[in-house]
Amino acid sequence: MADYDYDLFVIGAGSGGTRASRVAAAHGARVAVAEEYRVGGTCVIRGCVPKKLLVYGAHFAEDLKDARRFGWQVPSDCEFSWQTLRDNVLAEVDRLNGAYKKTLESHNVEIIDQRATVTGPHSVRLADGTEKTADKILIAVGAHPAVPSCPGHEHGITSNEAFHLDSIPKRVLIAGAGYIANEFAGVFHQFGAHVTLINRSKDILRGYDLTIRDRLLQISMMKGIEFRFDATFEGIEKQADGSLRVSMSNHAPIEVDLVMFATGRMPNTHGLGLEKAGVELDDHGAVKVDEDNRSTCPSIFAVGDVTNRVQLTPVAIREGQAFADTVFGNKPTRVDYDCIPAAVFSHPPMAGVGMTEAQAKQMLGSVRVYTSDFRPMKNVLAGREERALYKMVCDGDTGRVVGLHMIGPDVPEILQAAAIAVKAGLTKAQFDATVALHPTMSEELVLMR
Ligand SMILES: Cc1cc2nc3c(=O)[nH]c(=O)nc-3n(C[C@H](O)[C@H](O)[C@H](O)COP(=O)(O)OP(=O)(O)OC[C@H]3O[C@@H](n4cnc5c(N)ncnc54)[C@H](O)[C@@H]3O)c2cc1C
Repeated sequence: MADYDYDLFVIGAGSGGTRASRVAAAHGARVAVAEEYRVGGTCVIRGCVPKKLLVYGAHFAEDLKDARRFGWQVPSDCEFSWQTLRDNVLAEVDRLNGAYKKTLESHNVEIIDQRATVTGPHSVRLADGTEKTADKILIAVGAHPAVPSCPGHEHGITSNEAFHLDSIPKRVLIAGAGYIANEFAGVFHQFGAHVTLINRSKDILRGYDLTIRDRLLQISMMKGIEFRFDATFEGIEKQADGSLRVSMSNHAPIEVDLVMFATGRMPNTHGLGLEKAGVELDDHGAVKVDEDNRSTCPSIFAVGDVTNRVQLTPVAIREGQAFADTVFGNKPTRVDYDCIPAAVFSHPPMAGVGMTEAQAKQMLGSVRVYTSDFRPMKNVLAGREERALYKMVCDGDTGRVVGLHMIGPDVPEILQAAAIAVKAGLTKAQFDATVALHPTMSEELVLMR
């Protein structure tokens, strides 16, 4: 080990890379981490955190309307300033970026503000040409938004740029129907834009429970978000007045002021030099790893989005922690991928854990499903028609709750707690044995018929 510059060289200071660096250093390793953009990575700089802050900001549009029904005098000329929200969000991102750097420094992790590429099983090259060597290398470079290669695609933006817009455009077209597309559809809509979401297939949010995503589609349409399905991008033309004319299959062209691509994320492995160390990639360009995050090169490991297992921050963090504990802490640890809760911060939000009804039917055969379809008390007084929907999927033989899927106010907050019970393998009878906490929305979880 002493022959190398470091015990561990981490490429990428995002969720997985920072956790692995800090924990490995705490276990006594000499660690350096290279970051080509900003310490904190996607989640902190241009993902979960600024996105959630925009979702909070967007929610005030409805809250202020509803407030009148609760007796508050909200002036009709109540104004929203995108620039104020944007700048406050970006300032919070700066604060977090500083906090992440400080944490790494206080653990004696050397931060190298440069791109790094792999040149061999134990060596990397920095953008300035410097070579560094390490006993182990961790690839934690994350992923980037995929952009279709249609003519005029350069006129579109991705979620990366959405946080920096000068103003909220009047007409927004979002390509894609995953969680990022639906979250930004809600945000732009609440800020007053007319939003059209287009997708190649007939579905939104594939992988989530069908009943729940249908409810989101219905509510989104009711709010005025437009959907176009079976639509493949054919091209974007910039017009003299600056607007964009988008053509697509099966539908008439549409004129908008902003096009945002939310059409998936690709691992950042292009040009990373991994082939020089014999690191194999899968068909999507993701690093192939075993259960201990080891690549096909024994000294090179990978965690997080670049492995394309589950592209979520808490998963990248767990993988980084497990890697550092296993390799440097003499504490062999593997990540358990069963029952990972996930949320979509749409308006209203969705959340789910465990098997969908379709998955349970396929895997278990005998399944019992319980639902609660209700109008939250707050929506009733506010005169808001939106109904919440909770769905519990149980093993028909044992009564074990194998899936929980929800849409409605605050469901991500509710689901995190309920996910503990699902992960612990509790039954419907055990849920029901808990006395309801009244009046709440979450009491529906123990009252389902
Ligand atoms: C808009 C959006 C919203 C999201 N919302 C959520 C959410 O609500 N909840 C959730 O759990 N997840 C969310 N995610 C996903 C989450 O951000 C990722 O799963 C997570 O950041 C993955 O962590 P990572 O460590 O694998 O990669 P990243 O956090 O992406 O970090 C990789 C880092 O490596 C750097 N890098 C890349 N190549 C090099 C190189 N060659 N040299 C040096 N540095 C390099 C990059 O600049 C980056 O900082 C969201 C993502 C997006 C885009």
